[in-house]
Amino acid sequence: KRKDRSILITGGAGFIGSNFVHHWCNTYKSDRLTVLDALTYAGNKANLASLENNKNLKFVQGDICDRTLVDNLLESEDIDTVAHFAAESHVDRSIIEPGAFIQTNVVGTFTLLEAFRQRWNNRSQPQSDRFLHVSTDEVYGSLEVDDPAFTETTPYTPNSPYSASKAGSDHLARAYFHTYGMPTMITNCSNNYGPYHFPEKLIPLMCINILLGKPLPVYGDGQNIRDWLYVEDHCRALDVVINKGQPGETYNVGGNNEVKNIDLVEQLCQLMDELAPNLPVSPSKELITFVKDRAGHDRRYAINASKIKNELGWTPQETVEGGLRRTVQWYLANSDWWKPLLSQEYKNYYAKVYS
Ligand code: NAD
Repeated sequence: KRKDRSILITGGAGFIGSNFVHHWCNTYKSDRLTVLDALTYAGNKANLASLENNKNLKFVQGDICDRTLVDNLLESEDIDTVAHFAAESHVDRSIIEPGAFIQTNVVGTFTLLEAFRQRWNNRSQPQSDRFLHVSTDEVYGSLEVDDPAFTETTPYTPNSPYSASKAGSDHLARAYFHTYGMPTMITNCSNNYGPYHFPEKLIPLMCINILLGKPLPVYGDGQNIRDWLYVEDHCRALDVVINKGQPGETYNVGGNNEVKNIDLVEQLCQLMDELAPNLPVSPSKELITFVKDRAGHDRRYAINASKIKNELGWTPQETVEGGLRRTVQWYLANSDWWKPLLSQEYKNYYAKVYS
């Protein structure tokens, strides 16, 4: 019989973290979950609102860099598993202001690793303890159109302050296994999309701008390629890694769905034209506007996910067509969720990026 876990989920009020909390609460009803989240601009307690009455879920507002707080939580909640999502996650913000990325992504990850190491050293039965560090394929750098997809042994070549900070944290997680034998595992995943995705990211940005009749800013020539994965599939992958993965291992996670940005935006326009009544501009693709390219914009990311498939039996279940349709429907049904997020801070950021 599977042993119940007590999991600390950092960044559990963000996009992927909150989807993971929903997945875990639905799947492992007797596990205990503690969410630690600083509620930065990207964190939102509304993402967990439907779980408010769940007795096994505790929410703590706080910073992963706060060592005393982390020590106390590991102890008081009797944590055996960490699923570490908390991060500054947006490339465009890392170009404008990289400092917070180093603090949270590097110093914050280090703080968690140190706290977990101290606790793990003192545990009498740490066999099933795990520290999962959730990371990105962006650490591998950029591919040309004909290059083979990233594998777990592709050398790191991060190009943005965001991916460089994630690369730093990946190296720390890896070193804690090699140096101390601590049961860390790393996942490097491609671009996610789905419910609770903050409006600044490509897919929600396009959905929301179509609904508001605002221009759809596409960077450069729109030919950049990303590999898209529906967020629920990512959560299932993290689940198999926590429950069946080998300590010290890295697993690449991807959807095998490479799409050019411009094609993705056109697909979203078509879906919106079909599903949304009374759009301010129709057909909505008239809103597409090419804007100055992002500095250092990576051309292509693609993931080879054979290791997690062969060793742990995970494959994505959602298609890009199905996942985009579900996502568009979600944004149409949940304007109460996204409207309050278009704050003055958001508008200031938006004006800086698309000036
Ligand atoms: P997000 O920005 O939506 O959420 C990040 C969460 O972390 C927020 O709730 C925020 O409040 C919290 N946070 C930030 N700084 C914190 C701090 N110092 N202490 C405590 N909490 C803090 O990000 P996301 O898209 O959900 O990404 C989650 C993780 O997955 C990140 O580590 C990211 O690098 C990784 N990842 C994301 C993608 C993607 O496509 N979004 C793909 C691969 C990997």
